[in-house]
Amino acid sequence: MIRLYKTAALPSVEMTGFETPLSEEESAIQNTVHRFARDVLRPIGRELDRMTPEEVIAPGSPYWAAMVESAKLGLDPQLIAQFPPEVAVRIESLIGEELGWGDSGLAVSLGAATVPLLMAQSLGNPELIEMCTGKIGCWMNTQPDRGSDAAILYRQELSAVGKQPTGNVTAKVGADEIVINGQSSAWVSNGSVAQVALAYMAADYGDGFYGTGEQGSFTNGVGMIIPLDLPGISRGKPLDKIGQRALPQGEIYFDNVKVPKRFAVALKDEYLGNLASTWSYGGTHMCQVFVGAARAAFELALAYCHERKQGGALLIEHQMTHLRLGDMLRRLEMARAIARRSLAYSRMSPQSHPYATAQAKVSVTEEAMKITHEAFQLLGGNATTREFPIEKLFRDVRSALIEDGENYILTSRLGVLAGRLYQNGWTRE
Ligand SMILES: Cc1cc2nc3c(=O)[nH]c(=O)nc-3n(C[C@H](O)[C@H](O)[C@H](O)COP(=O)(O)OP(=O)(O)OC[C@H]3O[C@@H](n4cnc5c(N)ncnc54)[C@H](O)[C@@H]3O)c2cc1C
Repeated sequence: MIRLYKTAALPSVEMTGFETPLSEEESAIQNTVHRFARDVLRPIGRELDRMTPEEVIAPGSPYWAAMVESAKLGLDPQLIAQFPPEVAVRIESLIGEELGWGDSGLAVSLGAATVPLLMAQSLGNPELIEMCTGKIGCWMNTQPDRGSDAAILYRQELSAVGKQPTGNVTAKVGADEIVINGQSSAWVSNGSVAQVALAYMAADYGDGFYGTGEQGSFTNGVGMIIPLDLPGISRGKPLDKIGQRALPQGEIYFDNVKVPKRFAVALKDEYLGNLASTWSYGGTHMCQVFVGAARAAFELALAYCHERKQGGALLIEHQMTHLRLGDMLRRLEMARAIARRSLAYSRMSPQSHPYATAQAKVSVTEEAMKITHEAFQLLGGNATTREFPIEKLFRDVRSALIEDGENYILTSRLGVLAGRLYQNGWTRE
């Protein structure tokens, strides 16, 4: 049936665009997180953006206030998971988008902070749960010489005679203890403030770093939760970077650090599967966050077009502006749709996959970059000054094209996956 209307009234619209009606509960959650994003994350994010990385993490910095205030919101993934799956996906998406709308750097920091606890809860390990509860966490996977190479899952991703490098931080796994030496990359989100890490690295189980047979090109690995106050752990200088300056990043150094083997979450044969699970789960947060950042850019441009006069009229009265705003909104709707679909796939499909999550992250961040770029262009010279927040959004979004996997690499991994699926019978009926 066609739903008939008597007039061409404006369509119903939510903060999140052309949305089917939100339930009371969904609206309440969205409004609460929106207020938090508007009143806490956004102003604090702007303040932190102007500070040095050392000032951002110093005691008394507004960064800590943002962390404390966010804890009061009670956005526990365990509680969200109690809703029916489709509802839980929409709620998770609404929350991530509002956080990203407020400040993408802080939204990433909040997301990364929960990762070790989520792993402990997924394993149902009471000791690890207690160790991670109330702590700021991080996800430590990349290293200076093992960036894109840190997350290789298939042989086709290595060049003909290539081997996955062991990288700069490695573990020796003994009977009761794991000994770690080396350093993480400077990119680890929350690296300079985290109290616990979910860490992945190459590991020697007594017979060298490389597997045998089919696995001969891959390093053996280990995943573990590390309390970051163990003897032998130190931090690098907090990273100074162009975007997401509210997100503290920095190296973590390990000098003969001894971790009880019971803190391992994935030994030898479970390593790749566990790494893949965390990545396919966590990468979805990036998608929602950068839909939020793109929406913030669109909203700024839309408002500016109603204030700025050129050619004898407000920008919004010019046809070319309609085209540009329409294109931005179309891309925003598309990015949100992709972000939600991949979130649903990650949470609800019987076997999720990090490359399926990653392709969505590529599409969302590429669209977010186009939207933010166009918003920047619409603000003319004003965009280039630090008085207008669009320059910050532009810098924040730019980093996302590399964060959580560089976009070309992630796209080529999708191609590898397509080949593997075809070889397994997909599309051949
Ligand atoms: C804001 C931000 C947050 C981050 N957060 C975290 C975090 O929480 N935890 C963590 O562990 N890491 C984190 N990272 C690191 C991030 O995952 C890496 O930066 C990313 O995977 C790319 O690695 P790289 O920087 O070493 O670049 P490289 O891998 O050195 O890539 C450099 C260039 O070389 C190209 N390239 C790489 N490999 C190949 C190849 N085989 N063939 C052809 N070209 C290739 C790439 O396309 C890229 O253009 C973060 C990064 C950023 C920017």
